[in-house]
Amino acid sequence: MKRLKIAIDGPCASGKSTVAKILAEQLGYKLINTGAMYRAVGLMALENDIDPLDEQGVKSILRQVAIDFAGPASNQRTILNGRDITERIAEPDVAQAASSVSSLLPVRRELVARQQAMARAGGVVLEGRDIGTVVLKDAECKFFITASLGERARRRLKDYERLGIHRSLPEVQQELHSRDLNDMTREHSPLVKAEDAIEIDTTDLTIEQVINRLLGHIEENCRKPAGDRS
Ligand code: C5P
Repeated sequence: MKRLKIAIDGPCASGKSTVAKILAEQLGYKLINTGAMYRAVGLMALENDIDPLDEQGVKSILRQVAIDFAGPASNQRTILNGRDITERIAEPDVAQAASSVSSLLPVRRELVARQQAMARAGGVVLEGRDIGTVVLKDAECKFFITASLGERARRRLKDYERLGIHRSLPEVQQELHSRDLNDMTREHSPLVKAEDAIEIDTTDLTIEQVINRLLGHIEENCRKPAGDRS
């Protein structure tokens, strides 16, 4: 059976990571969490005392950033230069740094090229902000996952609680809102829904319902030649 390229985009904490993980697992596909790659660059900047908005500074460390993914999709680990940074990059300071470095053109060019190389053979689920619009314009299947800001903040607060990070709901809501705004208004590859993406609002849906919709769409539409898709 054809090994597809699946693009999943959407704002912060919309549920796209959870969905991408389960989908990759069920299809036996490789999972590429592109947000983790921007977070890795953000962490590298923080650790080297480089302002994440300093284009020349961040550019100078890009070549030293080797990012790998290890383990199964259900428990994927992000590895930066041989070090497991999975827990560290879930923290709010790294999220903010990721949002900043992701607005820099040299960073986007480099990471997009790496993502395209990783996806070349197909059999991949890529999740991020610009997958359907930039990284994999040719993906057979594109989804745009959203949820209300309140629901996304509640979900992210729970993630933080699991990691032992203490934040209040209004703080998390503010953090998500400001990152969304950054991502949607930046000059290069802003977060927008691809014209040919299927939008799914997950506010009132269970994970199982979301997965069923995605799998249904994949089976009905994505395996057909491009001209025959509805
Ligand atoms: O998805 P996640 O929240 O981990 O992404 C962290 C940040 O990386 C986002 O806020 C966004 O600024 C940036 N990002 C991006 N393009 C992607 C994935 C993430 O700009 N494809």
